[in-house]
Amino acid sequence: MSLERLPGFRNCLIDDEASIQIQLKFLIDESRQRLIQGTLQALVHVSCQRCLKPLAIELADDVKLVLIENEDAIASLDTGWDPWICADHKLELAGLVDEQLMLCMPIVNLHSSGDCLAGVNYNTGAKDGPLDARTESSENPFSVLKALKENNATN
Ligand SMILES: [Zn+2]
Repeated sequence: MSLERLPGFRNCLIDDEASIQIQLKFLIDESRQRLIQGTLQALVHVSCQRCLKPLAIELADDVKLVLIENEDAIASLDTGWDPWICADHKLELAGLVDEQLMLCMPIVNLHSSGDCLAGVNYNTGAKDGPLDARTESSENPFSVLKALKENNATN
């Protein structure tokens, strides 16, 4: 399914380079309930919430929906099935897929920590000041030791 038909899901993404695969079965069970069962898989790009750079994520979810005519029917649903209200018997499939994809988006999207920090450029100006100071202070103890040794040798 193309992203153009999934406006809500598309809003969660940073570009249109997405691969989305949906498999749905439409069934009627023994108690005449209309069911939609299947799987969603998507490979999409979002922005990392730590470094704001692009992050590829893979989504996968099972779909188990019962079509009901109104909210009153929610109480009598079997556990493990989610209600989908479809009052006029016309199913808007793109809207359904759009919402199911948004539901399986992670709440927080982050690179794995190594990738993320490598991408962030902490510009502290450390090259000029603190780095030089550190080299100097790490050399001093040795030159002092060397001087002491030389003194001992001459004594
Ligand atoms: Zn990141």
